[in-house]
Amino acid sequence: MHVEVRGLNKHFGNFHAVKDVSFDIKKGHLIGLLGPSGGGKTSILRILAGLENPDAGEIRLHGQLVNHLPPQERGIGFVFQNYALFKHMTVFDNIAFGLKVKKQSKSQIQDRVMELVELTGLSGFEKRYPHQLSGGQRQRVAFARALAPEPQLLLLDEPFAAIDAKIRHELRSWLRELIERVGITSIFVTHDQDEAIEVADEIMIINAGALEQKGTPWDIYKQPETPFVASFIGESTIVEHARELKGFDKLTGSAVEAKALIRPEYIEVGSEHEFTLLSATEKGKVRALHFRGSEWLVEVVVGNNKLITYRSLEKETLSVGQEVRVLVHRAYLFNDHENWMVENH
Ligand code: ATP
Repeated sequence: MHVEVRGLNKHFGNFHAVKDVSFDIKKGHLIGLLGPSGGGKTSILRILAGLENPDAGEIRLHGQLVNHLPPQERGIGFVFQNYALFKHMTVFDNIAFGLKVKKQSKSQIQDRVMELVELTGLSGFEKRYPHQLSGGQRQRVAFARALAPEPQLLLLDEPFAAIDAKIRHELRSWLRELIERVGITSIFVTHDQDEAIEVADEIMIINAGALEQKGTPWDIYKQPETPFVASFIGESTIVEHARELKGFDKLTGSAVEAKALIRPEYIEVGSEHEFTLLSATEKGKVRALHFRGSEWLVEVVVGNNKLITYRSLEKETLSVGQEVRVLVHRAYLFNDHENWMVENH
């Protein structure tokens, strides 16, 4: 379903937890709510679900205003990070729970549960109890249970937080495929940027109660609109005055006051003889080298700034403390009003 949120606000006592948040979500899209702890992600999810009342704002699901509807009448499925399965019920009964509440017939329930058991790869586990399952399997039961009553919108609060790293990775792609297959509009909360980038169609960056930016993972990474988004997503260094960088000193107009965001892929580091045009490069010093398997992460200091880059080499030829040249190919510039990419020339 299409989700429309306008001017959402929520206070807890004097604390302004959700600040004037508005957004639209297209039917069938998977949205990641990403941001630091305490930013308001869970509060937004709980307000959408009807578990919390907003002080102001409108929520429309499929064009219908739902502010006055209780959670069970909103057509929303919910998955929490701690699975919240019923411990005394089998996998079958857990998945059947929402269908029994809806007073469906025995045969309808049987068919729907078996369909979901298959869809979530749980065939053969129907009679087990939650304590007889792995974390990943339990979480799949939680997804199946949330999907069983055919909700129009699925809300997932840190669905992978309690699962160990390796399984989490598999479960992410599994969820992505499942959601595509079912075609259900979904919103998941995470504080893990890799997870959001990998899984989401669009990311909403939530910081201190406000929506800082909404866009595809590509947009968010390549065109961050605020310094917060820039520093929260991916590796980057922010240089206070872009004009002080070699090759960027001819910037004029609003660029005079602009800051520069430098990502690892924007720079190259090497010894003097590795660059033909030395005048376009900065002097720097290698501060650290980290072996990353297929490549080296190089930390280099230029002026007051620590920049990083990657070099894919069999054997790293740089050494810590070495004086090097740093070529900044391009920089992402931003000031209070605008942001844009510039090339070194
Ligand atoms: P996390 O990633 O840690 O879960 P979050 O971004 O989901 O954080 P919220 O859980 O929405 O953030 O909380 C936002 C702020 O509102 C926090 O400072 C939190 O302490 C506060 N808060 C949330 N629920 C309540 C409540 N019921 N009463 C008082 N304060 C609350």
